Amino acid sequence: KVRVRFAPSPTGPLHLGGVRTALYDYLFAKNQGGDFVLRIEDTDTARYVEGAEDYIMEALEWCGIVPDESPKHGGKFAPYRQSERRAIYDKHLVELLKSDYAYLAFDTTEELDEIRNEFEKKGDVFAYNYITRNRLKNSLTLSNEEVQKLIEEKVPYVVRFKMPVDRILNLEDIIRGKSAVNTNTLDDKVLVKNDGMPTYHFANIVDDHEMEISHVIRGEEWLPSLGLHYLLYEAMGWERPEFAHLSLILKPEGKGKLSKRDGDKFGFPVFPLNFKDPETGNISKGYREEGYLPEAFINMVALLGWSPANDREILTLDEMTKEFDLNKVHKAGARFNKEKAEWFNHEYLKAKSVEEVLPLLRNAEGLDLINCSDEKLLKVISLMQERATFATDIYKEGVFFFEAPTQYDEKAVKKAWNETASGVMNDFTLLLENVDFESEKLKQSIHDFAESQGLGMGKVMMPLRLCLVGELKGPDVPDIMQILGKEETIARIKNAVN
Ligand code: GLU
Repeated sequence: KVRVRFAPSPTGPLHLGGVRTALYDYLFAKNQGGDFVLRIEDTDTARYVEGAEDYIMEALEWCGIVPDESPKHGGKFAPYRQSERRAIYDKHLVELLKSDYAYLAFDTTEELDEIRNEFEKKGDVFAYNYITRNRLKNSLTLSNEEVQKLIEEKVPYVVRFKMPVDRILNLEDIIRGKSAVNTNTLDDKVLVKNDGMPTYHFANIVDDHEMEISHVIRGEEWLPSLGLHYLLYEAMGWERPEFAHLSLILKPEGKGKLSKRDGDKFGFPVFPLNFKDPETGNISKGYREEGYLPEAFINMVALLGWSPANDREILTLDEMTKEFDLNKVHKAGARFNKEKAEWFNHEYLKAKSVEEVLPLLRNAEGLDLINCSDEKLLKVISLMQERATFATDIYKEGVFFFEAPTQYDEKAVKKAWNETASGVMNDFTLLLENVDFESEKLKQSIHDFAESQGLGMGKVMMPLRLCLVGELKGPDVPDIMQILGKEETIARIKNAVN
């Protein structure tokens, strides 16, 4: 059975790259009728950030990416937090130590610094590997008695992987195809730290095996670890899962990895939700709070590196699930594009019914809509929805529906208001007293009025718009008039004329 896991470390909020990994994990699992598992990799206590796990859960939920198994949902392979799985790693470590693939290393930080300096002085870089391990303090160079003695004396040690010498590893990746690596280029990675906690590599392999993970889909930053992971499976005598490494999400200009700083600099969020850094108190902006719809957000994320058939762009999560194909995921990095992200939101907002948009406006922060009836708001939405990127644009671009203009745009006045405009508007208000305030009828009245005065439509429409809106923008004037109603329309014209 296909089982895919998303395995974030709770070291901070999820960023765009993390969401995309989670989404592809989910889409692939669901496409194959499999399970999607969320596992929290929290063995690195030094990098642990308070609240990050909850943040990750909430962000995935907001995106609609719901795990079948997780710390919160439980499951057959619980616990799903690595910090709670210590006994499992200990058990497998015993097995590993019986093999020829691991050894104990007693070197102190000072000793390692010393040899590192010695290498640097010669212009070399130190690595703990097949060349240096022979002169360091470990169970390969010490006698059994010496090792036993050190253990009894409780001298701290780490467990290292004994990288084989001069072996070619043939690696396979679903997205990138075949590649090869010589083990001499790899070092003896620490598998278990001196506090007994496994490092990422060991815990990750044990859990993927224990949790029966069939496919590992993750970011390309883990590609250099693939050789080691292959050998760890070999060492344990386990069948390994299949691997797929996703390319980076690039900055809008195309060069370099998209980072949190880009979001700050270019004015777009990199995180799904706002995140307050517990240390600095700084808030990183999130898509949710910016007013993005979750459906639009994940649609945008999905297309950062994957193209559905026929270049289709708008797909629901279900449609993406049906179509998703790892073989169609791009090898090259995907460039982030803010305008495209906004376009997705615009498309999804446009497709909503006015009733669906209503609560988005009602729940948006900082809008003064308490005194506005649902009836009026629904009408405003139906007029403004088409052009809005975010629901709040409906308010921002249509603020004249809620407040009379207090000033008039200078350029617009120059363009629309000549010396006869006041007279024309005054005459027009007299006529309005007897008109039914319905858009079609209003349009006819404006037309008839313009004709009777021997004026072009624009000569009436433009000053009228200026009176009602304060500038020369917005939807059709008769539509605005209908929503404002007779009393308010006449009041605004009188106010402008005086
Ligand atoms: N804990 C790793 C991370 O935070 C998981 C990498 C993997 O998926 O193997 O990226």
